[in-house]
Amino acid sequence: MLDWKNPPRLFIPGPVKVNEDVLQQLARPTLGHRGKEYAQLHGETVGMLKKLFFTEQNVFLSTSSASGIWEAAIRNCVGPDETVLATCCGAFSDKWADVAESCGRKVNRLKVDWGKPILPEMIEEKLAGGSYAAVTLVYNETSTGLTNPVYDISRMMKEKYPDVLVFVDAVSAMVALPIHFDDLGWDVVFASVQKAFAIPPGFAVALVSNRALEKSRTVPDKGYYFNFELWAKAAEKSQTLVTPSIPHIMAVNYQSRKFLDLGIENVWKRHEQMGEFVRDWAGQKFELFCERKYASNTLTTIRNTRRVNVAETIKAVQQKHNTVFGNGYGKLKEETFRIAHMGDITLDDLKELLGWIDEQIA
Ligand SMILES: *Cc1c(COP(=O)(O)O)cnc(C)c1O
Repeated sequence: MLDWKNPPRLFIPGPVKVNEDVLQQLARPTLGHRGKEYAQLHGETVGMLKKLFFTEQNVFLSTSSASGIWEAAIRNCVGPDETVLATCCGAFSDKWADVAESCGRKVNRLKVDWGKPILPEMIEEKLAGGSYAAVTLVYNETSTGLTNPVYDISRMMKEKYPDVLVFVDAVSAMVALPIHFDDLGWDVVFASVQKAFAIPPGFAVALVSNRALEKSRTVPDKGYYFNFELWAKAAEKSQTLVTPSIPHIMAVNYQSRKFLDLGIENVWKRHEQMGEFVRDWAGQKFELFCERKYASNTLTTIRNTRRVNVAETIKAVQQKHNTVFGNGYGKLKEETFRIAHMGDITLDDLKELLGWIDEQIA
């Protein structure tokens, strides 16, 4: 039975450790979601998110996990007869391609081996060979610990294919890695809050461009719960379409204020420092799974070159220190392991964890 007074400290790549002050935000008195106070909370939260992501376009609050927005981007912005170019470099990008197919859209996959990045020229070549409504990208592939060069890709898209919509899964990137939404010319970008926002799971933030919203007006059969047109109408009144998870919005509000007070550039920098620290350790003790240049600042995937029993090591660290890190994802289990360093995790936390792993593998 879980000891609620002493929950395990999480270094898995989502959900991540939630600090007590953030947790408290979810325990505040609730509000009526059509009342003035709610509208104020909503408006203020959206206003801060716009600053964090450098956008003047649409910010939506979704009571769903991020996977809902995978589906929303496709169902709202890709017509029934249009084709999506899905870039695939790991479990999450693969899954998004499956979701697009399950929405009945035509999907062409651009695949690279797990651990390799998607490069602008690969996309350029694919787009040159067909007619596409949109391209899907994963900013940070959480299964492999890889950050795609999405800024370079965006420059290419703006220059060569400005009419193709760009959808970006930023689930394990948002807040921790830069998102200059308007400058990048992105159309739908989203994250769930249990990753770098360091909030308990069950909620997502979505950025939607004006042109994506316009496009959605022409697409039939969008359904109800994830309908961008209906979301936009509600957002005009600083509301959501359906009753939202108000406790989560209180936590998003709290965290957003904190990130703005710290300066979002400093939040990125802190993640970079944590990433460098874990990469250095991994390089000494094991090997990085990805080329260092593409290794993520929010989690590190480490190749198990010492052939330690990863599951046993995780169990031992948990038993001794009540702390959990991640095994490799799916087919990378035991061959790799993953350490998250996002959200409110600190360098001191990491030093402690890596010390315990060192003891275990000595
Ligand atoms: C965690 C994760 C998801 C899934 O998020 P949910 O909140 O479980 O829907 C999707 N994409 C990436 C890159 C992730 O890290």
